[in-house]
Amino acid sequence: MVITRTREELYKTLEGFSKQTGKLALIPTMGNLHDGHLSLVRLAKLKASKVIATIFVNPLQFGENEDYKKYPRTEKLDVEKLKKEYCDILFIPRSGEEIFSKFEKIRTIDSGSLGSELCGKIRPGHFNGVLTVVNKLFELIKPDIAIFGAKDYQQQILIKKMAKSLHPKISLIKAPIVRSKNGVALSSRNNYLSEKEVDIASNLFKCLQKSVVSYKNNEELKNILNNAKSFLISKKLVPDYFELRDSELNLISKNNFEGNKVFLGSVTINNTRLIDNIEF
Ligand code: AMP
Repeated sequence: MVITRTREELYKTLEGFSKQTGKLALIPTMGNLHDGHLSLVRLAKLKASKVIATIFVNPLQFGENEDYKKYPRTEKLDVEKLKKEYCDILFIPRSGEEIFSKFEKIRTIDSGSLGSELCGKIRPGHFNGVLTVVNKLFELIKPDIAIFGAKDYQQQILIKKMAKSLHPKISLIKAPIVRSKNGVALSSRNNYLSEKEVDIASNLFKCLQKSVVSYKNNEELKNILNNAKSFLISKKLVPDYFELRDSELNLISKNNFEGNKVFLGSVTINNTRLIDNIEF
């Protein structure tokens, strides 16, 4: 695996690869890699001849009182894990300057009204930060394919919308959610939880599963959502939101919606916010 830390090193490495044939797949991450991230690398290896992962804890997507400073940084372990998966290139900028150079104005990408809903309501500006950095990575790397996890469902939809307009040549792939044995979606933020709290957190997935069954049994949507919130509270999880949307995240207000849909939930446990969803 070639490790690049500056734009210059990145460009030189990509130039070498561009002379060869085949597709380049990009996997942007913030590091502290777990099996969820690595599943994206494995999928990329199947879809492209070269795979580039990036590790950058993007300050633009953290609010003032959020965990930017304490976000887990585990570079050495991450490099070993990526090597084991035969990742071809890692771009791990030595400073933020390599992404947002002081010689150019940052092009801020506006995540629109959807960017202020669901997670965006709780984290104002978060998705503008995400889209701004992903747009920059797309500009620097110019991949053929980019892979994002379904775990961050709203993020993946917003990136798809942004790419359709600004980077129409890039094919986006959504990778399935990887979970631990008890159903908790793997996340770097699970590191903030005790074993007991991880156990409690598994009730979010249970709640999503129960809600899907209830919907398929034609229960009133309003009751399903109310019951879900009560269930989460009874398990000592504080619901930030629990909603049913269509697969493009438009609101659904009635039962018997035929198309693809998704229950999305966000809960807080001891100051740590976790998200999860089920598509059906
Ligand atoms: P992050 O490092 O949290 O920014 O995540 C980088 C990429 O990994 C994003 O596309 C995430 O959606 C994806 N990802 C994170 N956790 C999981 C998971 N449990 N299963 C699948 N993909 C994931």
